[in-house]
Amino acid sequence: MNEFHLSKRLETVASFIPKGAVLADIGSDHAYLPCYACLRGYASKAIAGEVADGPLRSARQQVEKSGLSHLISVRKGDGLAVIDHGEVDCITIAGMGGALIARILDEGEEKLTGVKRLILQPNIGAELVRRWLLDHGWELTAERILKEDGQIYEVLVAERGDARRPYRHLEAELLLGPFLRQENSEVFREKWQRELRHWKRIIADLAEKGESEAAREKKRELEKKVQLVEEALL
Ligand code: SAM
Repeated sequence: MNEFHLSKRLETVASFIPKGAVLADIGSDHAYLPCYACLRGYASKAIAGEVADGPLRSARQQVEKSGLSHLISVRKGDGLAVIDHGEVDCITIAGMGGALIARILDEGEEKLTGVKRLILQPNIGAELVRRWLLDHGWELTAERILKEDGQIYEVLVAERGDARRPYRHLEAELLLGPFLRQENSEVFREKWQRELRHWKRIIADLAEKGESEAAREKKRELEKKVQLVEEALL
C-alpha cells in the first residue's frame, strides 16, 4: 500500500469522499488516505490528525515525500481536537474500534459544524457507531462490507438528515446495518455466521460455568443477538 494504491478497505473509504472535499482524516497513521484523496482530486485539501508520536512522524514523512505539504496539514491531537470549527466538510475515521470512533465523535461533536459527510470504518463494534449516528441526527446513507486478507470490514457513510429513516427493524439493523442486511451479500453472511459460531461457544461456556447473575445476564444478551442474527440470515 502507498499513496497511489490503497488497500481495498481504504479504497472503499476513499470512494465516498465527495469530489473537492476539505477532508479531515482522524487517526491517519501513515496518511495514505489523505495523500491518495488529494492526488486523485477527491479532496481539495486535507488535515491528517494523529494522537501518537510514531504514526504522526510517519504521516509527516509521507506527506512530505508525496510533495503534498501545501495541501495536507499534519496535526497532533486527540480526535476532532485537531480541526477548527467549520474548517472541513468531510471526516474519515478508519481502522479503529466502534467504541473509540463513537467517543471521538461524541467528544468533538461541536467540531462537526459545517461537516456534510462522515465516512467511518469501525474494525469491530459498528453497532456503537450506528447508535451514535442515530442519537445525534446523522442519517446513514450508505454501507459497504468487504473482505480483505481474511478480515471482514464495514464502511458506514452518514450525512445530516433523518437519522431514523434507514431503519425498519431498529434493534436488528443497528447490529447488522440496514443497507447491509437488505443487500444480504456473501460477505455479510460469512461475517454473521462467524459471529454466530463465536457467540454460541461463549453461550455454551457460560451455561457450563456461569452461575452468577452477571453470567446469566450475559448469556441472555447473547441469546437475543443470536436470535436477531439467525432471523436475518434465514
Ligand atoms: N486510519 C488508518 C487506517 O485505517 O489504515 C490507521 C488506522 S490505525 C489502526 C489507528 C490509528 O488511530 C493509530 O495510528 C492511532 O495512533 C490513531 N488513534 C487512536 N486513537 C486516536 C485518537 N483519539 N485521536 C487520533 N488518532 C487516534
